[in-house]
Amino acid sequence: MQGLMSDQPLLISSLIEYAARYHGETEIVSRTTSGGEERSNYKKTHIRSKKLSQALKRLGMQIGDRIATMAWSNIRHYELYYGVSGIGSVCHTINPRLYPEQIIFIINDAEDRILFIDPDFIPLIEKIIKSLKKLTTVVVLCTKQEMPEASFIENLICYEDLIDAEDGNFNWPQFDEKTASSLCYTSGTTGNPKGVLYAHRSTIIHSLAAAAPDNLSVSARDVVMPVAPMFHANSWGIPYVATMVGAKLVLPGRHLDGESVHSLITKEGVTLTAAVPTIWLMLFEYLEKSGKSLSPLKRCMIGGSACPRSMMEVFKKKYGVTVIHGWGMTETSPLGAINTPLAKHFDMSLDELLDLSEKQGRPMYGVELRITDDKGKVLPHDGKVFGDLWIKGPWICSGYINIKNSGVHEEDGWFMTGDVATIDPDGYMHITDRTKDVIKSGGEWISSIEIENIAVGHYKVAEAAVIGVPHPKWDERPLLVIVASEGNKIEKEEILEYLKDKIASWWLPDDVVFVDEIPHTATGKIQKLALREKFKEYKLEVS
Ligand code: ADP
Repeated sequence: MQGLMSDQPLLISSLIEYAARYHGETEIVSRTTSGGEERSNYKKTHIRSKKLSQALKRLGMQIGDRIATMAWSNIRHYELYYGVSGIGSVCHTINPRLYPEQIIFIINDAEDRILFIDPDFIPLIEKIIKSLKKLTTVVVLCTKQEMPEASFIENLICYEDLIDAEDGNFNWPQFDEKTASSLCYTSGTTGNPKGVLYAHRSTIIHSLAAAAPDNLSVSARDVVMPVAPMFHANSWGIPYVATMVGAKLVLPGRHLDGESVHSLITKEGVTLTAAVPTIWLMLFEYLEKSGKSLSPLKRCMIGGSACPRSMMEVFKKKYGVTVIHGWGMTETSPLGAINTPLAKHFDMSLDELLDLSEKQGRPMYGVELRITDDKGKVLPHDGKVFGDLWIKGPWICSGYINIKNSGVHEEDGWFMTGDVATIDPDGYMHITDRTKDVIKSGGEWISSIEIENIAVGHYKVAEAAVIGVPHPKWDERPLLVIVASEGNKIEKEEILEYLKDKIASWWLPDDVVFVDEIPHTATGKIQKLALREKFKEYKLEVS
């Protein structure tokens, strides 16, 4: 229509074009597997991403072709985000921590044509290469000198050779913003992993929302380090958000232990970081031992699993860092709700604010949340009743690839998350459990997450998980599984006494078991399924 605004498509290539033009000298830094560092900037990665696009074209890649990556968070991986999506191909990031059978499944399900891998993964790919049906080419993300002398993989290509053959004199094409840009699989704790396809449009809108002050509040003055890996929901979208605002970007590579993460924060001046709670437990352990501070870090986004109040308290009171608690899923790009306060919370004390922060957050503009009961009836936002959590919006998936009827997507855009939550009148959502982890005792639900979060507040507890075990009278009762913190021994009576006045009496676990380690999923979450399996024969003492 005449006089209407431009309909210029929202494309991922426009992010790096912008950053190269206006923030060209701003750095991108990454740590290599051997502990070295690589430094670049938006100007240089822009040109290298274009060279990569030229090379992919030379290899015959077109709009819609899937190109896989198996790599840590590093600069070459960042170049793939832009070089692959820039030509309309789909950047499929693979989580290397999945089982080999799952990796074979998703590479075949996605019909990946080319696979880019960090050198660390050559042995893994050598073992499975024969099962990868559509794959024609494997490229190793390294220099010529770092290439292996021999490999079982035929025609192994060196990344630097591949892009060196191009001149970077290339314009990224314009195409429909609804074109697929990248692909992530859920970790598949039940059944096979499912593919979630992001679009250029959804990625850009999600990035705009994520950068806003009430969400991650990211600006050109920040130094941003996503510790959530680039294969976990695209580092929660942060490599796009940082580029969009021209923030310095720090990519931590393979080693995410406390010392490695801390040294990057202090050396590079990181102001904003993001990861699952497990990462911060390792960091705290290191800080305790070394007596070091966390300056200059200001904000830390925590999600992926519930952030215990005790963790937010240590961050704030001991290290002066504000935790931004958030909730999301691979299916939600991933940000769905973020916990930042409202104007009416100005008068709150720090402890009251910490109480508020336990909730997973309120929806940002663009997403809608609702909860329903077993029959699908929409429940009130009163902060008390809990039900199945649904989400809807322009960066929420409308289905899974190669699955006709997911059973969790509705025609009108609502997606059932598999989480159980309450929503209060201000819109703050509080997750009580995953549907499949819910403990039902005498027909009433017990929140395993809440008990776990309180238990880890005890200084002798490093990690806690609560699962339901069979009970003749109540169907199920909670069993608390504990890993003691280093150098500490904790008794059953001690932890039950600690929990006693903090939860309803009928929520009190019937028993406590102590283990050396709790199993984690490929994305660093407690693997309840494996725990339930381990304790399936567990007999509670029934009085
Ligand atoms: P995967 O299942 O592949 O690990 P996701 O990252 O998509 O991947 O997992 C999403 C799930 O993680 C959510 O449905 C929810 O159960 C859980 N989750 C994410 N953030 C939080 C949070 N802040 N509190 C509690 N659970 C969370």
